[in-house]
Formats: sequence, structure tokens, C-alpha cells
Amino acid sequence: MRRTFRLKLPALFVSAIVLPALVLAYLGLRAVGDERERVMEEQRRVAGLLRERFDGVIRHAIGELRRVAKPAGMDGTALGDLSSLFIEHAFVLDHEGRWIVPNVPGKRKATLSPQFRARMEAAGHLEFSVRDIAGALAMFRGIATRSKNRTEQAIALNAAARCALKMGDEEKARQQYTALLRDHPMAFDGHGVHLATYAHLRKADMFLRNGQPHEALRTLGDWLDAIERGVYPIYEGFAYYLNRAEELVRSIADEEVTPDVKTTADALQSHLQRTKGRVRFVERYGPIIVLPDFADQLALLEAGPDSMLYRTGHTGEGPYLIVLAPASEHRFVGAHFDMKAIQTEWMGSVLAQAWNRYGFRASILEDHTAPAFKQAHKDAMTTVVELSDRAVGLQLGLYVEDPASLLKHYRQRRWLLFSIILMLTATIGFGGYLVVRDAAREVKLSRLRSDFVSNVSHELKTPLTSIRLYAETLLMKRFRGETERAHCTETILHESERLSRLVDNVLDFSRIEQGRKTYQLRNEDLADVARSCLDLFRYRLREEGFIVRTDIPASLRPIPLDRDGVTQAILNLLNNAVKYSAEKKEIHFLVCDTVDHVIVEVADQGIGIPKQEQVRIFDTFYRIESDRLKVSGAGLGLTLVRHVMDAHQGRVEVESTVGQGSAFRLVFPQGKSNVKDENRNVK
Ligand code: ADP
Repeated sequence: MRRTFRLKLPALFVSAIVLPALVLAYLGLRAVGDERERVMEEQRRVAGLLRERFDGVIRHAIGELRRVAKPAGMDGTALGDLSSLFIEHAFVLDHEGRWIVPNVPGKRKATLSPQFRARMEAAGHLEFSVRDIAGALAMFRGIATRSKNRTEQAIALNAAARCALKMGDEEKARQQYTALLRDHPMAFDGHGVHLATYAHLRKADMFLRNGQPHEALRTLGDWLDAIERGVYPIYEGFAYYLNRAEELVRSIADEEVTPDVKTTADALQSHLQRTKGRVRFVERYGPIIVLPDFADQLALLEAGPDSMLYRTGHTGEGPYLIVLAPASEHRFVGAHFDMKAIQTEWMGSVLAQAWNRYGFRASILEDHTAPAFKQAHKDAMTTVVELSDRAVGLQLGLYVEDPASLLKHYRQRRWLLFSIILMLTATIGFGGYLVVRDAAREVKLSRLRSDFVSNVSHELKTPLTSIRLYAETLLMKRFRGETERAHCTETILHESERLSRLVDNVLDFSRIEQGRKTYQLRNEDLADVARSCLDLFRYRLREEGFIVRTDIPASLRPIPLDRDGVTQAILNLLNNAVKYSAEKKEIHFLVCDTVDHVIVEVADQGIGIPKQEQVRIFDTFYRIESDRLKVSGAGLGLTLVRHVMDAHQGRVEVESTVGQGSAFRLVFPQGKSNVKDENRNVK
């Protein structure tokens, strides 16, 4: 029973408290595991999501573009501002790769007939050599009316207008230009100059000279609109005219003009910039979009919603992405995506919405820049994935903007969690320890109690048996002679004394427990008390065969004592000396005094007490189980001795060596309290 208890408690402590606490600590630490790995994991997840969404953005933009570009009469204005779809330039091509919007002519230089050339030369001769401007004007107009070829008509009209200007007849010049613009919007001259463009600039010049800035701006606006709608062409070398127009508009804006004109001029400036951008776009990306096998590539595109042709790569300005898709029969729309806006606005906003806590930043990279990106952010935990399966060559790079503070934050959190877990584990462990200790105490106490009952019963049994035996001997008259009879009576007397001492011990203990035990202190001579104790015990000592050496002075200065209590304490010590002596049955009984103390010492040469036990032997019920000597006892003797000594403000000391013997010393104070006939009650 005892054994199982002793095993059960630690097992219970380990299985119910220590193990769960350790598991908790382990799980907790795992949960806050390697923060770097967790950030990387999250980064890969975010990269995957961005990739998925990116494809969605492109599909949506192209879908919208197809929708606006579908109507047959659609012109370039519908493709105007598509920046909300992240499209920087939208365009329309035909199935052979010819540009429809913007209108980029394949062939520009006009082929002129010999007759026309001859006539123009003659008129030119009049204008430049003879300087007969009026004659030349008439001739040019004649050529314009007579010629069947539209280009030739346009060239002649342009020359006529020039002559009219030279003559200062602006009205006439304007007429010529108006006719040219109305009837020949796409005409180029023999040098590849777009005549309508030329006419617009001339007209604007004229208006300005006449102080009509509003009109000048209007004609330039018409020009730009026509370019945007695809009515006028765009071609390289066009930049010259755009710069020229810019100068004109700037000169208007710099003048003192009405706010109305100023607003129009500003709007026109930005329109000019847009058109310039388009020219640059066509110049730079035209050859990339329309590759030699373009028609074949388009033929492979199906009409489904996802049929798209991707062009990716990089220019000096960074990576580009151009996507083409069929819009209607023989018409294909294309979008040049604004990668900077996608990176900063779209990715920025997506990251900010969903994954801000890590401070991820995204970059669109080209294959060859990815290593440089990784190198640049090598301390920042990078993740690089393909931007999309279709946009081959473009990659998405993610990095943590401030890895140091992120990791610091994580480390702090980890420490915090770690400390909490540690504290929790320690608290659980400590709580468990307290519970188990309490339980162990309870178990021990109940064991001591049951031991106590059996020990006391055992203790009582020995004297009772002797009393009974000798009483029977007397009763049956089985003794031989008077000496034997006296011995029987004496034994009965001493055994009953021993019995009552035992009962006294138990009763005293019970009184102490209940707080009812009191001591009556009277001035007594301790030497006298000691002697009477020895007398009381002499019979037992003799019976057990002990040699007793005594060292007791005739008298000592009286000190306040409870005679019964001290007698009980001394008898308990003598009793122990007898009980715990084996072969060597010698006792030294000593009483002495010093300046401060009066001392009673009982020394035996018995089995001794191990050092570590010398404090605990005074605890209630505490006994040392000895294999050598099987002695019964209740574990109360020394408890009572100490209690008595406490009541006398003295102390009990022990000095013992195992196998050599023990000496117990009762040390009484001998001080001021030693007043004559003092009568005190002490608890
Ligand atoms: P009990 O003697 O009834 O067991 P005590 O309180 O008197 O109880 O003593 C407590 C324990 O101290 C004893 O069990 C014994 O092991 C030890 N002890 C006391 N006196 C001596 C002594 N003189 N020599 C050796 N051991 C002693």
C-alpha cells in the first residue's frame, strides 16, 4: 500500500503535470519557430497570389480593349485614355500587321507622273526664278484643278497656298489649305512630307500673326485629334512637326492671353505630349510588334477570350509587356502595358491591402536583371517567380523592405512568447510540485498516524504483559520464597510506572496538540530533580544490566522549573538511552552548571544517530527504523522533550556518532528570571 503510494505520486506528477507542461513548451516554441523561414513561406504565398492576380489584370484589360475596339466605325479616340486598365498605349492592327490606329503609313513618298513634274517645274520657275508669284499661283491652281491624281492635286494646292502667302493674300492661302485639308488628309509630297500637317501648322502661323491665338490653337487641336482618330498618319520624322507645334503653343501661352486661351493651350500641350509618346511608341515598338512572321503568328490566334499574343522584353526604360488579341474580323487590338504603374500602383495597393504586416515590396524584373535584384536585396530575403506563364522573360521579385526591423520584431515576439511559455511551464511545474508535496505530506501524516497507533499499542503491550505475568504468579503463588515475591511486586510496580509514563507522554502530546499543555514553574534544584529521576529509573537500569556513571552535584542554585515536565523529559532521555543501546550498556548521567546555564546530560554508548537525522528526530512521530535494533516507540519522546525545553526557554542539544553513542543535553538558562519562589504558568 505504502509502496504504491510512493510510486504513484511521482508518476502522477510526471504524467499529469510535467509532461503536459513540456509538450506545451515544445509546441509553443515550435509555433514561434524560425521566423526567417516563416517570412519566406509567406513571401512565396504572396508571390503566387500576385502572379495569379496579375494574369487576371491583363485578361481584364484586354477584354475591355476588345470591347471598345470592336465596333467597325471605331476610331482612335475610343482608345484614348486607358490608364485605369494600366494600358499606356493601345493600338489596332490589321491581319497583315498594318497599323490602323495609330495610322502609320507603309509607304509615304508620292510617285509623281512626268507631266505633273514638268508642269510643277514650270510653275516653280515662275515662282522662284522669274518671281512672278501671281502667275505661279494661277498655274498651280490650274494644275490642281486639272490633275486627276489626288496626291498631285494636294501638292499643287499646297504650292498655290504658298504663293498666296508670299503675295500677302492670306484669305486665298487659307482657302487653298482648307481645300487641301478637306480633300486630301492622307497626302504626302514627293519628299515624304504629310501635306495636311504642313497646312495646319501654316494656318496656325497665320492665325497667330493676325492676333487670333484661339483660332491658331483650334487648328492645332484639330490636327492632333485627326492624328488620334487615325485620320492623319504618324510616322518617324513626325517629331519635327510636333516640336514645331509645341513651340507655337508655348509662344501663345507665354503671351498675355485670356484665361480661356491659356486653358486651351495647356490642354493642347498635354495632348501634344501624348501624341509625342505615341510617335515614340510606334518608333520604338513598331518593329518589335510587327515581326516578319507577324501574319503567321496572328493566324495561329484563335477567336477565344484567352487568345492573346505576348511580346515581352526590355528596352533602356525597363521591361515591357505588349499583348495582342483579335477584336473583329481582320482587326487586332494591342496594349502596351504601363509596367511602372502596375508595379507601383497595382502591386503596391494589393500588397498594402492584404499583406502589409510584412512590409513586402514587389518589382517586375527581366530574366537577366533577376540576379542583380537578388544581389541588391541579398539581406532582404527575396523571392523571384515568373510573373506569368505567358509573359515569358518577365519575373516578379518580392523582398522585405526592412528585414532587420521585421526580424527584430519577430525576435521580440519570440522572446515574449518564450518567456510566457517558460513562466507558464514553471508555474504549472511549481503548482504541481506544491500539490504533490501537500499530497505527499498528507500521505506521510496518515502513515505516521497509523504507525503511531500501532507503535503505541505495541509499547503498551510490553509492560502490560509483564504486569499480567507477575500478577498471575502472585495470584497462583508460584514464587519461591519471599525474595521472589518481592521481585514480582516490584516489577508490577515499575512496569505500571512505565505504563503510566507512556500514557502520560501520549496525553501530554494530545494536550500540546490542542494547545492546552501548561507548565508550572517553581524555583527548584535541578540536581535534586535529576537525582529523583535516576531513582525512578534505577530499577529498569539494573534490570537491563546497565552500568550508570553519575556526576551530580549535591545541590545547585534553584531555577524556575516545572518539576513534572522536566522529570518527564529526563526520563524520556534515560528511556531512549536504554532503548537504543546494544552491546555496550553504559550510561553517563551528568548535571552541571555554568555561569549562564544549568545542564543535564544523558550520554549512552548505543547505536548513535546519523548526522542528517539529528534535527528530524525531534519531529512528531519521527522515528528512525533501525535494522540493527528492533525497538518499539511512538516517536513522541523527543517531541515532548523539546516542548518542555521551549517552555523553560532552554534548548535540547544532541551530539552523536553512529555506532559510538549519543549524548542528549538539556540546557536551562540561569538568568534574571531566576527570582525567588517564582510561580509562573507557561504554555
Ligand atoms: P521513540 O523513542 O518512541 O521512537 P523518540 O522521539 O524518543 O521516539 O525518538 C525519536 C527517534 O530518535 C528514535 O526513533 C530513535 O531512532 C532516535 N533516538 C532517540 N534517542 C536516541 C538515542 N539515545 N540513541 C539513538 N537513537 C536515538
